[in-house]
Amino acid sequence: MTAAMPPFVLRLNASRVRFGAGALAALPDEVRALGCSRALVLSTPNQAEEARRAADLLGSLAAGTYTRAAMHTPVEVTEDALGEVARTGADCTVAIGGGSTTGLGKAIGWRTGLPQVAVATTYAGSEVTPILGQTEGGRKTTFSDPRVQPQVVIYDPDLTLDLPQDMTMTSALNAMAHAAEGLYARDRNPLSSIMGLEGIRAFAEALPVLAGAPRDRDARGRALYGAWLCGTVLGQVGMALHHKLCHVLGGSFDLPHAATHAIVLPHAIAYNEGAVPDLLAPLRDVFGAASAGQGLYDFADRIGAPRALRDLGLAEADLDRAAAIATENAYWNPATLTREGLRSLLARAWAGDPPAA
Ligand code: NAD
Repeated sequence: MTAAMPPFVLRLNASRVRFGAGALAALPDEVRALGCSRALVLSTPNQAEEARRAADLLGSLAAGTYTRAAMHTPVEVTEDALGEVARTGADCTVAIGGGSTTGLGKAIGWRTGLPQVAVATTYAGSEVTPILGQTEGGRKTTFSDPRVQPQVVIYDPDLTLDLPQDMTMTSALNAMAHAAEGLYARDRNPLSSIMGLEGIRAFAEALPVLAGAPRDRDARGRALYGAWLCGTVLGQVGMALHHKLCHVLGGSFDLPHAATHAIVLPHAIAYNEGAVPDLLAPLRDVFGAASAGQGLYDFADRIGAPRALRDLGLAEADLDRAAAIATENAYWNPATLTREGLRSLLARAWAGDPPAA
């Protein structure tokens, strides 16, 4: 007996990926290959030194640096950066950093058509998606457009050796969340499921090593490989409850992006597990657990990730409103969404309790 092959539609996003320790050295070649000669290097203030180093590496191919990228891509920052693009006559951008910096490169690329190189230094995965979230007047809006996606992505594990320990773990769980929700996505395809599972396995192997030895080069390489795979899944298929909840908690309650993902993931997966037990079975196998939700919870605990939303500053009094916002606009999810169900999920995540069985 052969299992039936379900139909699928697959969109492969065209970007060039260069992976490997020391890969940053090829940055000038990659800029030239795009036909560009004046790259504006972008970063957050925290990574201004990395931006300067990348500009030095580019030498005469560098138009300058802009080091004011900020979380959730505020439109004011993009407009300020566009002034720098015009002033320097830049013909491409090089974003060096996590999702915040990649977001700025995307926002510039979408508005100007300038080609983008993304040098990823966290595991968030934005560099391989056509998705852009921007904030204006305190409101975050997200859309997907192929013109947003960086043309070239460089993954150099050496740039992640000093990623702080808390950020390492939360950013990795953020990436694993893309893959976990990808396993039950309505528009999943064979490749997205294979990549997602391989990405989760890579993190399951690397993170316990990094918990004890943050500068272990092999484990850093394996984690970044997982990030590429999980981010690619995010760029290919639709997300559900977990991403919606994190969007609400980040957008309406200003909770930090990666840590929120890390805390909510076991609970969102547990909420959906009863509806799609077969699709989540591979996750149970990876963690050797009786349920995927509990497996993720125990794994997060083992690697020292945060567990309670209250520790991120969310007030217990906000849980009702968060559950209400998360059920406001209907969106697809494998399990039926109810306000009481989400309220109870959030209460567990708030207190740091294990997910519902
Ligand atoms: P981030 O980019 O905000 O980075 C957090 C901090 O860590 C910054 O100060 C950064 O400079 C610093 N940092 C990054 N890499 C470092 C390194 N290797 N060593 C030392 N410091 C380093 O964090 P993030 O979690 O990568 O990105 C979050 C943002 O990305 C959110 O706005 C989120 O909405 C967005 N995002 C978008 C997508 C998408 O597909 N559009 C996907 C994932 C995340």
